[in-house]
Amino acid sequence: MRGDTTRVVKTLRVRVVPEGTPLVTVLEFLRHYTSWLQFVIDKLWGRKNVPSLATLHNEFYDFLRSKNFRAHHVKELLKLAKEIVKATKKNGGSKPIIKSLFARLDRYDTKVDLERGVVRIALWGRKYVTLRMLHRRSYLARFRGWSYYNLVLKWDSRERNLYACIMFRRDVEMKKISGFLALDINFDNVAVVIEKNQRIVAMKLFPMPLRKALTHKIWAERIQKRYPKIWRFSKNILNAIRKHHRRAHEILTQHLHRLANRIVDLAEKYRVAIVMEELTGLKNNCRRSRAFNTKLSMFAYRRLQEYIRYKALERGIPVIVRPARGTSSKCPVCGGRLSYIGGKFRLVVCKCGYVGHRDITACLNLLGFQPRKMCPRAGRGRTGSNPMKPRGDVTQPNEAMTMQS
Ligand SMILES: [Zn+2]
Repeated sequence: MRGDTTRVVKTLRVRVVPEGTPLVTVLEFLRHYTSWLQFVIDKLWGRKNVPSLATLHNEFYDFLRSKNFRAHHVKELLKLAKEIVKATKKNGGSKPIIKSLFARLDRYDTKVDLERGVVRIALWGRKYVTLRMLHRRSYLARFRGWSYYNLVLKWDSRERNLYACIMFRRDVEMKKISGFLALDINFDNVAVVIEKNQRIVAMKLFPMPLRKALTHKIWAERIQKRYPKIWRFSKNILNAIRKHHRRAHEILTQHLHRLANRIVDLAEKYRVAIVMEELTGLKNNCRRSRAFNTKLSMFAYRRLQEYIRYKALERGIPVIVRPARGTSSKCPVCGGRLSYIGGKFRLVVCKCGYVGHRDITACLNLLGFQPRKMCPRAGRGRTGSNPMKPRGDVTQPNEAMTMQS
């Protein structure tokens, strides 16, 4: 893990407007692209095995070229069709039907100019279209020094806007680390414990911004309750409800970004890798299990992990994801089952005499750290794993995380 490089992928999603070319021309191209994409998907769907790209190329290249596509359009279209069919078959879904208008183009058919804030893409034949990116310059500047490798142009039919998702990548050199930062996320707070050379050097609890977001959700609910029969049908009421929902998500996203930055700053300061738990199901020990609460918190946990993973990798800080196996119910000293006392300090106790904060304990378990001094009977053989040899893989941002199309 030392001195290695990791490929980091980052997506720029931006609203674009065509310059000098009518929007209709762009939409016509997208319609052309998606209909031939559907054609290839239909052909592939009935087959037992999804053919290799080389086979696809032999079979469809000349044909699609005759439909006015450029060489690289065809290449990307075939790749995309294969990906879609493969993914759908793997998930056991029915035949994919492309409903939205979009096209994925590779870097030979696109030219991204961040300085001028424009993208030039090649449509059929020798036709090019220039698209102006409608985004703050300071935001675009964040992608300087990155190389782009493909672009998805998409028509949002509800908003009636054109969007470009540009995929950038960069090889980031991983920093040398000398310890680990464990992270435990739950409804009320985020616990952070930093370990270096088998010693705990820092512990921190950050409040989770969920409650702030929740007040807006509650307002939205109140409106629904006030107009129980008509809220679904009244445009004004629906708009008011939507406004509260949107505001809730905005507040949450903003706070989560800030929180992620603070945690990654800590990891950078102490020169440690970040260890977090794999989020599988619901991890909510609170009794408030109303549907939107749990949904909102899962959304927040996922987002926070994504942001942290992302911001860390960008700065060359390794991220380790460990499977969640009762990290908050196991005693870090003897491995026994903890009982939850609760209260202001969210205490957990063990028969062996261990007493601790529930979330901090979860972090200790993630680190595989055994707090000897806290318990006189401890220290007879380690039950935790060796913290210097983290299990799990150093993760890279996966495709699902970066693809927004
Ligand atoms: Zn114990």
